[in-house]
Amino acid sequence: MKIMVINTGSSSIKFQLFDMANNSAAIVEGLIERIGEAKGRIKYKRAKQGDEYNKEEVFNDHKDGLELVAKLLVDKQWGVIDDVQEIDAVGHRTVHGGERFNKSVHIDDKVMNALKEMIPLAPLHNPANITGIEVAQQIFPHANQVAIFDTAFHQTMPPKAYRYAIPEKLYRDSNIRRYGFHGTSHLYVSREASSYLNIPIEKFNCITIHIGNGCSMAAIAEGKSVDTSMGMTPLEGLIMGTRCGDIDPAIPYYLATNNSMTIEDINTTLNKESGVKGIADSNDLRDIEERYIAGNDEKAKLAIEMYAYRIKKYIGAYFAALSRVDAIIFTAGVGENSDIIRELACDKLDNLGICLDVQKNKGRKKGICDLSKDNTKVKILVVSTNEELEIARQTRDVVQGTVG
Ligand code: ADP
Repeated sequence: MKIMVINTGSSSIKFQLFDMANNSAAIVEGLIERIGEAKGRIKYKRAKQGDEYNKEEVFNDHKDGLELVAKLLVDKQWGVIDDVQEIDAVGHRTVHGGERFNKSVHIDDKVMNALKEMIPLAPLHNPANITGIEVAQQIFPHANQVAIFDTAFHQTMPPKAYRYAIPEKLYRDSNIRRYGFHGTSHLYVSREASSYLNIPIEKFNCITIHIGNGCSMAAIAEGKSVDTSMGMTPLEGLIMGTRCGDIDPAIPYYLATNNSMTIEDINTTLNKESGVKGIADSNDLRDIEERYIAGNDEKAKLAIEMYAYRIKKYIGAYFAALSRVDAIIFTAGVGENSDIIRELACDKLDNLGICLDVQKNKGRKKGICDLSKDNTKVKILVVSTNEELEIARQTRDVVQGTVG
């Protein structure tokens, strides 16, 4: 079975073609960017051949972009399949599934209508995801179209974790509650860790720490998400590249009344100008880490300390939520690459059975590694995330009717 995974943004499409019969190998991966701008670009990499088609091109719309991908897939020089009809299904990364979707689904008219109804919950993401689906339906009309939601994995949270202490009416009428995001990644790394540790998923308790540009943590009990740090939107929780994470909810009111900021300004400030960028003038943790190591950079030091301290506080909170923790799992750009953040986040947690082996922790990690000291209670793992592969797996399961 060949499955195309598509992640559509407002001006970009990321794509990856998997051959599920051949060890779920990714045959092609690529990116179309700057759709609708004067100059766009396509990158199309073939895994087996190890080559790349990388060209500037004008893409008027998403359809233009995906049409070129479909052409390249069967091209004499660049092709990897004989006919696009070989693609059995297209899996669409879909950001917000609200309360409606607690698992991946086959896309029909009803699902499309539900996605449109949910636009207010993710006004920046869901419209692009809908465009991606409509375009894929035109270009791969024979293929099953499947939606995989970032929010679905967290639908197992109990009300005490997902409700906010605000008037009930706002939940009932306006759907205001915690949904959580990065579900595909939290699910993937928790499953990988359970099989690595040889603990059946239905008995596995863990804390997953996805720290990339966006950052979130999840408390997972017996394989199911029971709490997560992102909320109704991806702004809540951990400190991120440009997002503030948890702050006093009265601050927006204060900014509006004292600083005469508009609601738009406040939204931009908290989403785009905050996080480590707000503290240390860069949203890239690599840069900040270099400055931290070089020394004499108070801003970089504070940003790193705040970032790691927030993770540590959530480890404590989720330890309390789970009572027994088999493993703590670091993943994504920062989690897989930053030994400093891992060390500071786990610092002095020995009383919880969390003991990092400083030597094992050194350097960047690929695949799965155990960084805990021998014979300690809680395993500290790094697991490389692979959201595209998880989307492909779930797409296959929906097509085969085996989705749980
Ligand atoms: P996304 O959330 O967009 O998928 P990634 O998971 O790729 O992002 O993470 C990107 C972030 O990872 C970058 O902003 C960078 O700060 C961080 N990162 C990548 N490599 C390193 C490194 N060696 N040390 C520290 N941070 C790193």
